[in-house]
Amino acid sequence: MILNYGYLRVTYNRVFNIMHRSTFLCLDCIRSFSILDSPKVRCNDLDGVIKKIKQLVLEGKDNLQFITDFDRTMTKSYSETSFGILEHHPNFPESVKIETGKLVKKYLPIEVDPKFTVEEKIPLMVEWWEASEECLKGLVLDYANFEAAVKSANMPFREDCDRMLKILNQAGIPTLIFSAGIGDVIQCAVKLHSFDYANVHIVSNFLKFNGDVVDGFKGPMIHIFNKNEHAIEGTAYFKDVKYRKNVILMGDSLGDADMAEGVENAGVILKIGFLSSKDLTLFLPQYLSKYDIVLLEDETMDIPLFLIDSIVKQNLP
Ligand SMILES: [Mg+2]
Repeated sequence: MILNYGYLRVTYNRVFNIMHRSTFLCLDCIRSFSILDSPKVRCNDLDGVIKKIKQLVLEGKDNLQFITDFDRTMTKSYSETSFGILEHHPNFPESVKIETGKLVKKYLPIEVDPKFTVEEKIPLMVEWWEASEECLKGLVLDYANFEAAVKSANMPFREDCDRMLKILNQAGIPTLIFSAGIGDVIQCAVKLHSFDYANVHIVSNFLKFNGDVVDGFKGPMIHIFNKNEHAIEGTAYFKDVKYRKNVILMGDSLGDADMAEGVENAGVILKIGFLSSKDLTLFLPQYLSKYDIVLLEDETMDIPLFLIDSIVKQNLP
């Protein structure tokens, strides 16, 4: 048998080069995914998360839509909520604050109690929102004072939220702010911070006014456990995102993790949950079962920003 040493040499070099490159690619990936290697970042399935990120980067910005909750997701974990900020309106009566305070005391523990199933929670959340709507009906809240109410509120956005929204806008990635809070307050806050880009769409509970008098909410009620893409079916925004099968989703409550329900022909859905509860033993397992990435005590947008930036530049992190 005559050995073709030239051929063997070429083949050996080829195999060596492929192995060498693969090793480096692999090492690079492991090294650069170190952003996930932080005590603040928890994942149930790190390999699965890395696989999803690679797919998102590969398929790029034109296949991506971004869905985020507002209260304590875009804003920091200690921020006042949009409903709370409504109460800063100079015309908001003290007596109604007492009533809404009683409702929060009654229903909020149920909303966050992991012992209740979602099915058990839904009718109680509807009851809460209907009672809140009743409290608001008849109040004289001139729209001009919303801005003053928002300005006086303690509602800081997470670090680099502005940069993240700017990149999403520049890349033309449709961005849905989905909130069971008060849409008017969110719209005002977004405008005040110059986040009201053309790609940003807000779905929330907007107040129905009769002159300056509140006459309940416009349209169907959005509560914590029914906010999902079914709520935007038939809208122009829904048509915009129809062919964008990949989703990055951010939320701070367990219900938020279902916001991408209803996305047609869904591809990769990467869910990021912010968890700030001190009682991790109780909440962390639940968050890990609903979110791909759980961020603990993180008041920044570092991780979402890093992911969006990588997708836009199509740089594998
Ligand atoms: Mg929230």
